[in-house]
Amino acid sequence: MIIYGRSAEKVRAQEHLVPSSCPVCNTQNSLIGVVLMCYAHVWYIPFFPLRKRVVAVCGHCKGNYDIGQLRGENAQVCTILKQNVKFPVWYWSLAIIIGVVIVVSMIVR
Ligand SMILES: [Zn+2]
Repeated sequence: MIIYGRSAEKVRAQEHLVPSSCPVCNTQNSLIGVVLMCYAHVWYIPFFPLRKRVVAVCGHCKGNYDIGQLRGENAQVCTILKQNVKFPVWYWSLAIIIGVVIVVSMIVR
């Protein structure tokens, strides 16, 4: 039986987006940019990265907003944040292990 699926985790947060007013509660300086990364896993070991997504979280009303819901500079800051965050190497753990096993088995023959 193979257990597989996908998982997501919060990787990086950027506080105080500019101009950082919440689109719902209009609280100033309340938005935090959070990068969510998703990866495929087999037996809970990360196999390869799938996608990354940036959401803005309001510290006051706890609402989550996609980049499309934000205005002007907030959307630009979220896009830059998404571009600057790279997938961690350990997201490729199982792929690296499989690659090493293949290479070692070729050398041993
Ligand atoms: Zn809010």
